[in-house]
Amino acid sequence: MKRTTFLALIYIITGFFLTAYAYGNSTAKDILTPDERLWLNKNQSRIVYAVETNYAPFVFIDSNEQPAGLAYDYIRLVESKLGVNFKERRFSSLADIFSKVHSKEIDIVNAVTVTPERSVFLLFTDSFISVPNVIVVNKERQRWMEEKDLFGLSVSLVKSYAVTEYLMKKNLAITPDLASNDLEALLNVSFGKSDAAVVDLATASYLISKNGITNLRVAGEIEFNINLSMATSIEEPVLRSILQKGLGAITDEQRQEIRNRWINASTQTVFNDWRFWAIVGVVLLISLVIIIWNRSLNYHVKLRTKAEQEEINKLSKVIEQIDDIVAITDKLGTITYVNQAFCVHTGYTREEVIGQSFRILKSDHYDSEFYKKLWRMILGGNIFRETIINRKKNGDLYYENKTITPLKDDKNEIIGFVSTGKDVTADALMNQEMQRIATIDQLTGIYNRHKFEELFTLEAERSRRFSQPLSLIMIDIDHFKAVNDTYGHDVGDEVLKTLTDIVYENIRKIDIFARWGGEEFLVLSPSTDLENIQILAEKLRLAVENTLFPKVNHITISLGVSTFREDDTFSDLFKRVDQGLYYAKEQGRNQVGSI
Ligand code: GH3
Ligand code: MG
Ligand code: MG
Repeated sequence: MKRTTFLALIYIITGFFLTAYAYGNSTAKDILTPDERLWLNKNQSRIVYAVETNYAPFVFIDSNEQPAGLAYDYIRLVESKLGVNFKERRFSSLADIFSKVHSKEIDIVNAVTVTPERSVFLLFTDSFISVPNVIVVNKERQRWMEEKDLFGLSVSLVKSYAVTEYLMKKNLAITPDLASNDLEALLNVSFGKSDAAVVDLATASYLISKNGITNLRVAGEIEFNINLSMATSIEEPVLRSILQKGLGAITDEQRQEIRNRWINASTQTVFNDWRFWAIVGVVLLISLVIIIWNRSLNYHVKLRTKAEQEEINKLSKVIEQIDDIVAITDKLGTITYVNQAFCVHTGYTREEVIGQSFRILKSDHYDSEFYKKLWRMILGGNIFRETIINRKKNGDLYYENKTITPLKDDKNEIIGFVSTGKDVTADALMNQEMQRIATIDQLTGIYNRHKFEELFTLEAERSRRFSQPLSLIMIDIDHFKAVNDTYGHDVGDEVLKTLTDIVYENIRKIDIFARWGGEEFLVLSPSTDLENIQILAEKLRLAVENTLFPKVNHITISLGVSTFREDDTFSDLFKRVDQGLYYAKEQGRNQVGSI
């Protein structure tokens, strides 16, 4: 495309849009009916509207000798909406205007309140300004006021105003200071003559600002507004309708704009009171400090929480991986946490134990007193340390070297317990085995000499206390050396084991049977006197004599018996059985020697 062609195209397109725009504008719908438009075109040159010179701020003559005011702005806007320019005439009073309406010199009244009297000769538009009447007080009075708060006050009111009549009809016990105009009413308050004045908000705002009255403020509203309408002569309903349409075309934004121009926002409220702002300032400052403090606190809490979480994470990893059993309970012993080792050693899963009492691990090894003592200890804030036997899920017992530590909060109150422990079952069993080795004879599995002496002490004590007889047998295999020599040491061992079995079968459970050493055995028989021990000894001798021993066939034993005397030591009794045995051997063996 050539450059000239392109420019021509742009020109045509632009031209099209400009034409369309102009056409659209020129054909915008008229707010008036064709008849009204016709009427207006015909009559507009003769229509005159009245401008009051001293009804500020609604309509008045300003310092530049030009008409101005809230209502005046409306009539100018109506003119622009209707696309006309009315003539204007200035009047110093509403009465003058009314007389000129009567004489048909005036067609439009700019701002007037509807009254029944005026309705006789005027046609009113809907009100286009509604301004509240307000209570104006000295700034010293701090609080908000409503109509009822005027009760008993001296109130400055303008003579013949509708609001004056309205208030006087109310039973407010007002002392009225009647003023001839709004400014006088305001000055009455400013100079302290009256407690309050009731003036419309627009007038109050205008006069306070214009006259630099600094000690007044608006404290509240009266439930009675000033409503201003435009009016025409009763003979001009078409004009009234045209004005109404002009007013109706005024937008909300335009209304707000006019209002802002004439009503000083600072006069409407207590917002111009430095004390109010001081309070607002302090509140804002405190709020700001709280917000900043909260944010910084949140930030630090977040930082701290993050750091704590990382610790906690490390710690919980460690706790999860160690082989020590860790469990946490609340104050009542309800499990709230267990580590992996706990599950491994007890056989319970986490789900099975969390929320359960520690009692699920209880073995039958301890009486209730034991557990009471444990609780007393830890609830007293003390640490419990002991190796205790607990029961696994499968019923097996395990030994836990346990430490229960009370968990305390900042106030030193116990909030729960941490139980840490090692499974020492292997160690415990080893100990038990060692214990067994220490007390049991390896070859025969019966008590050894050490254990026998220990048990003898207990039985001797019991015998003394209950005056029960207690007797002892000493057994010695006859010519045992020859058995070893003939069949070997191992066969000799087998003979020792077989002998053990024979004796075991012939004694009671309460009898204590031990290998004293070599091929010598002892049987301690509680509740057995000398006669009965002799019988038992003889029974044993006979049993051995009648037993066929592997390989060796027959062996015999010699036995010494004696019974416990109250003042005996073990050694005293032992000596006597040893003498009895010696006697038996001397008498030819395979017999019982009793002393
Ligand atoms: P006596 O009739 O006078 O008692 O004669 P004896 O041969 O039994 O003599 P003595 O009681 O003095 O001998 C004990 C023998 O017991 C000595 C030892 O060889 C044997 N002996 C001791 N302990 C054991 C053992 O654990 N196993 C075996 N096989 N023999 C043992
Ligand atoms: Mg011997
Ligand atoms: Mg012997």
